[in-house]
Amino acid sequence: MSQDQLAGDFASLNLEQNGPQIPHVHKKHKRPNRAYFDIRPGSPSRSATPVMGVPPFNTADSFNNGVPTDISRGFTPVTQSPHPNMPMGTAHMEDTNSPVYQQQQMPGSSYEDDSTTSHIIATQRWEDQNQHLQTTFETANNSILPLPSTEFYCMDQGSCDPRLMRLSMYNVPEDEHLRSATKLPLGLTVQPFAPILPSEVIPVVGSTDNIILDDGSGEVKEPLRCKRCRTYINPGFKFGYDSSAICNICHVKMQISMDDFNSIDPTGQRGNPADKLEITKGCVDFLVPKIYNAVQNVDPVPLHYIFVIDVTLLANENGSSVAMIEAIKGSIEYIKENQQNCKVAIMSFDNKLRFYNLRPDLEAAQEYIVNEVNDVFLPLYNGLFVNPLESENIINDTLKKIYEFVVGDKYSHAPQSCYGAALEAASMALDTATNKQGGKIICSLNSLPTVGNGNLSLKKDDAIKTHLKCDNEFYNKISAKMLRSYISLDLYVTNGGFIDMITVTKPAEITSGVVKYYPNIIANEDEYLLGKDMVDEISKIEGYQALLKVRPSSGLSVESYYLDSVEYGDRDPMIPVVTKDTTIDVLLKYDNKLKVGTDVHFQTALLYTDIHGVRKVRSINCDGGVSNNIIDVFKLINQDVVMRIIIKDIIRTLDVCDFVNIRKVIDEKIVDVLTQYRALVSGTSSTQLILPDALKTLPLYLLSFEKSNLMKPNNQSARGNDRCFDLLKYGMFSPSKLNFKLYPQIIPFHILLEQEDLSFYDANETMLQVKPTTIPNISVRNSHTSLENGGCYFIFNGETVYLWFNENTNRMLLYDLLAVDPSLPINQISLFFGSLPETGTDINIKAANVIKYWCHITSQTSLPLLLLRPHVDQYYSSVSAELLCEDKTMNMIESYNNYLVQLHRRIQEKIAKDDYVKVTQSGKNHEQFHQKFVQF
Ligand SMILES: [Zn+2]
Repeated sequence: MSQDQLAGDFASLNLEQNGPQIPHVHKKHKRPNRAYFDIRPGSPSRSATPVMGVPPFNTADSFNNGVPTDISRGFTPVTQSPHPNMPMGTAHMEDTNSPVYQQQQMPGSSYEDDSTTSHIIATQRWEDQNQHLQTTFETANNSILPLPSTEFYCMDQGSCDPRLMRLSMYNVPEDEHLRSATKLPLGLTVQPFAPILPSEVIPVVGSTDNIILDDGSGEVKEPLRCKRCRTYINPGFKFGYDSSAICNICHVKMQISMDDFNSIDPTGQRGNPADKLEITKGCVDFLVPKIYNAVQNVDPVPLHYIFVIDVTLLANENGSSVAMIEAIKGSIEYIKENQQNCKVAIMSFDNKLRFYNLRPDLEAAQEYIVNEVNDVFLPLYNGLFVNPLESENIINDTLKKIYEFVVGDKYSHAPQSCYGAALEAASMALDTATNKQGGKIICSLNSLPTVGNGNLSLKKDDAIKTHLKCDNEFYNKISAKMLRSYISLDLYVTNGGFIDMITVTKPAEITSGVVKYYPNIIANEDEYLLGKDMVDEISKIEGYQALLKVRPSSGLSVESYYLDSVEYGDRDPMIPVVTKDTTIDVLLKYDNKLKVGTDVHFQTALLYTDIHGVRKVRSINCDGGVSNNIIDVFKLINQDVVMRIIIKDIIRTLDVCDFVNIRKVIDEKIVDVLTQYRALVSGTSSTQLILPDALKTLPLYLLSFEKSNLMKPNNQSARGNDRCFDLLKYGMFSPSKLNFKLYPQIIPFHILLEQEDLSFYDANETMLQVKPTTIPNISVRNSHTSLENGGCYFIFNGETVYLWFNENTNRMLLYDLLAVDPSLPINQISLFFGSLPETGTDINIKAANVIKYWCHITSQTSLPLLLLRPHVDQYYSSVSAELLCEDKTMNMIESYNNYLVQLHRRIQEKIAKDDYVKVTQSGKNHEQFHQKFVQF
């Protein structure tokens, strides 16, 4: 059956357009009990069985408590298809009114309207963004989160901005049985330094009652914490008139001293407790006393950086050594201007280790060479780490000397690489200079390590390995050692040849560093890109020496932090360096049944040292409600966290690269979830495929994951660079990056655009707008058939922007966009330094807006722009295969349309066999939730 024929199969797809309706909830108190959303007031036993075209739940008008709504809901129901395979016309969202989100603010009250978005991701993204243009997300009142691809303003009402921490379910099932009936994980995603809007700084809680110690030094007072479970004071604490407080996590009552709590403000007045930020804001930073230091009796220091350059023969020849030198120059410049207290050091390596004395009083660069690569030692101490401003001249001279060696002194270049020994030396340098307080190693690597400790040249068997675990003792040991010493590695791999990426990147993965990969450093202008990437990564660093702990309310506990460094267990993870991107996914488990109608609270505490050397705890708090109703549970599911946890579960079980079976497990998971929904929520009478509104794009995202480089068939090596690099990305990507990676966004530029289309809605230039009437034309699905011959598209995959056009694209459009001569053949068009030129035309400004929008959402300072021309660019077929993830793949993984048909058939089979978890039965019938791959 062809793609075109299948396009019609959406006739069998019925979306619950009224899925996530949240009633107008009156809030009488300053901080309402947000958690218990009775979605169907007055009719708890009302049947939820949908009738064709009739919403299964009350409409907004019938339960908005008398507040008039002016939301026109023009959903046109799709025609019922007699058989899922019969094309019956499409359910394109053009048929659906997508009302701009309108919210009526009442004093002390607010409500979330019931507007829904498309099941087509391309459309859904624009609709969701439009919904959040005019409204502020209120954390105590709103529970349906914006998409990870949406920019929105948020008001912290005692629960944190959901970009900092978000739950997989905001109506938390009362017990494990109800949870298992959803077949979905209960968990959360925390990104402690996610960029938020408005971009206000997270408040630092005073703790200004400084005690002057005997030695005259000031000491910060310890923040108020629960005496039993050690939870930090937060808006969920309840205070009594008798100087007592009840902890919202363990529910234990404790006596507190009012001096503790009702502290004196800087003007000498006793502050009003209600004004205290720690009980009004969902996220604050606490200053903490010395007992919280990472190394006892040692004061924290500003972050130390050590740059390590691979100067082996091939690295010098392919340009990566020079690229690295330039990148270090730019990075040190950045540190000098923005992180003045930080210190830097420089090393290089080939078959020897080379250290540089950067003492500010030196007149010329001094190099120290260590030949003992099996027994590493430091040849100098003073002058190794320096302040980049004080040593500016000697740093420049040193980099110049290294450059001269790389480009000039060719006869002394060595092909062998002692990468392992270089890591040992850099770690030793940081340990020595900071008194074991850690720091950042930023290293380039161009070839397989072949000499000294960590030599991998004897490993000839890699091509037949069928797992993706590091089994090298040296790299496992040094990774663990670096983690314990709070040392983090960023690795820049500059060669496309086999490099045993799983092994050499292990220290970066364990220490929460980043790995960047430039397989074609000469061909792709990657040289310039490497420099931009390095500065970008340094600018994202927020702190180091971090320790994370998640505390859920009693009844729940942490089952797993999805980090290899804690072996996916419940040990509190150490994170040597934390950045804006640092994201941790957490799976929770039940210890006891929760009480329906109460709130359940979650606190993430991140103890860290900021880059200037100040020790803090970031306390991030949010909450959900407890529900015993599966319908309510399904309504407030957050698909993004669900998807991340499913993917992380797959990753942690990649012991054997049996990708065919892993795909089956993912398919099974989706079928299970949708079967449960079908059987328990939407009813089994309909013959249509029904997707829960909160999970309507989950099958497409997971299908795209099944098609990723990570999951490609392993007929050659299971450990090729592309696969390993993809694996690393799934491990480290923030929610927004992962969202664009799984389903890249395509924006057409050859269509008719209105004046306000692709312009910024807000003065801060963060929220991109398009007119509702433009949405159908601007939403391009990721398949070959969607790309028009002669079209022009910007495509973003979370890291790179591609500009697609072909020989039939209007040349005046390309002239306006790129200022290229219309007579120039398209294969001769190039971009200067991989970025968009400024031509000042309307279309060029719109393109710049789009790139700026993508930068901000994914917290990047700039994005590389690459041309993507059919029959011109070498990488066209591989890149387009990844971008156009709705299409059938070379290895015969189905198109999205066909996939839905298959899912539907299997759901019907399961329903017919009565093969699902029932919620009316007692605990006897629990599902076997420890499945082979997916652990829930
Ligand atoms: Zn407690």
